[in-house]
Amino acid sequence: MIPEYKQPEKPLLTLTLGHLYPDQLNLYGDRGNIMTLRRRCEMRGIELRVVGLGIGDALAPDEYDMLFIGGGQDKEQAPVAQDLYDIKGIGLWAAVEDDMPVLAVCGGFQLLAHYYRPAEGPDMRGLGVFDAWTIHKGAHVARCVGDIAISWNGQTLVGFENHGGRTYLGTAKPLGRVLKGHGNNAEDRTEGAVYRNTFGTYLHGSLLPKNPHFADHLIRLALQRKYGPLVEADELKGPGGEFEEVSNNHREPRAILREKIGEQLTPIDDTLEWEAHTFVLERLGLHSAAAKVLSSTIQ
Ligand code: GLN
Repeated sequence: MIPEYKQPEKPLLTLTLGHLYPDQLNLYGDRGNIMTLRRRCEMRGIELRVVGLGIGDALAPDEYDMLFIGGGQDKEQAPVAQDLYDIKGIGLWAAVEDDMPVLAVCGGFQLLAHYYRPAEGPDMRGLGVFDAWTIHKGAHVARCVGDIAISWNGQTLVGFENHGGRTYLGTAKPLGRVLKGHGNNAEDRTEGAVYRNTFGTYLHGSLLPKNPHFADHLIRLALQRKYGPLVEADELKGPGGEFEEVSNNHREPRAILREKIGEQLTPIDDTLEWEAHTFVLERLGLHSAAAKVLSSTIQ
């Protein structure tokens, strides 16, 4: 039974998300990913602050708990690639190596690999977080467009893809395996890439509204990284029932924890989200996957 949603009076936990290039990279509702993260945090008494990081802005990794970078057309990607490499590269690498959750969609994903070779113009140098590279084979080769479903952690992720570039993985681990759709290159059924807590993917859609389990995965990673192993709220109550300040972690000694997040975030009524998820699976003809999702998620 999912408890009725009640907005807490004041947030007990705070996360800060750095949104890279919100003006340049914002295709197919990528902003919806951030709205989803914010809403799912709010519903658990967690404040999600969002800071836009445009061209020329430095990226100080200590100021953020999560990063998001969306997709864009080739002409928007070029100045972004330059800025990412020249200005934000070192900060972003530090964040990645320090296990910050980073979500990079489509054009953003391409720029976290070694390079993107567009149909026209020079190669765009990427950060090389993923051992992978992307080649656009020219206007005569069909783009990878349409709904897509992949397997991820024994579950499914659904989204919409639209990319001309084909990504090839070197040693990078894929995010998932394509069930229906194109994925990285329409050849090897790999989709996306993962390094530490950095996730690259071609799934727009937006991704997170239709994949609440993935949204919660990112939130959980960010909370655990910031606040450390999480404990039951009741364990934190003082003799009078009030919450005590606890020091359970080197990063955030003042944390007052409300959730037993280490195991599970407070459940949210995701009936609509799972209906949207299964709708895409059904449309792709993945009926048994859709039935599995429905039976395991919708109460
Ligand atoms: N410009 C890139 C491509 O076509 C990325 C597109 C996108 O982000 N949707 O491959």
